[in-house]
Amino acid sequence: MFILYLLIFLFGTIIGSFLNVVIYRLPRNESIVYPSSHCTKCKNELKPYDLVPIFSYIILKGRCRYCGNKISVKYPLVEIIAGLMYLVLFIYFGFSIELLFYLFLLSLLIVIAFIDIEHKIIPNKIILTGLIVGAIFRVLMLNYGVWDYVIGFVLGGGVLLLISLLSGGGMGGGDIKLMAMIGLFIGWKLTLLTLFIAALLGAVGGIILIALKIKTRKDYIPFGPYISAACIISILYGYNLLNLYIKLITG
Ligand SMILES: [Zn+2]
Repeated sequence: MFILYLLIFLFGTIIGSFLNVVIYRLPRNESIVYPSSHCTKCKNELKPYDLVPIFSYIILKGRCRYCGNKISVKYPLVEIIAGLMYLVLFIYFGFSIELLFYLFLLSLLIVIAFIDIEHKIIPNKIILTGLIVGAIFRVLMLNYGVWDYVIGFVLGGGVLLLISLLSGGGMGGGDIKLMAMIGLFIGWKLTLLTLFIAALLGAVGGIILIALKIKTRKDYIPFGPYISAACIISILYGYNLLNLYIKLITG
């Protein structure tokens, strides 16, 4: 079992390494497949041994082999997060079509969270990719029902759209589209839970960021990372949390 877990983790880090390319290039309108990976400063092409997830960063002590330019800690961080989360989802779902489905969603959410932190946008290309692939999976998984997810799509986007309209544009368009996409993936119950958890995480996160003086009260704090984290929490623990809630209100 340990070998299998290790392989899944390593597979996740390799996907994470690819997600890094997407996170860097997509907002810059660069092609994701061409050219091959190069140092963003000296443009030297990176060799396969420079691209081993996590290890290359440690061996090179976080610097480019050629020009000594500092490499962002974001790269190994994305690889570690992807590796660990791939493993967690594998343990949770086992080999199944659901596993593929949620690994895909997780990968999108990692890309969205990191692009949103850096550029304060959620690219339409990713949302569109998610909607198309999500719809295909939903057709393949018809035995899970359809309406739950259609309602999730409408409700996910709708609630944030309503908040945006009522607050006079307090909510970004990217967040609205992201929640609609998530609704298609996880259904309306978990979508509402995701919104609730995201609001909670956002409030706590905002207070911490302001207390640590990383952000001021006036700064725009991207909501995408909170939605992404809340969505993963909902997938893993959602039904436990909902049952607990029902038990609490029904006594
Ligand atoms: Zn370099």
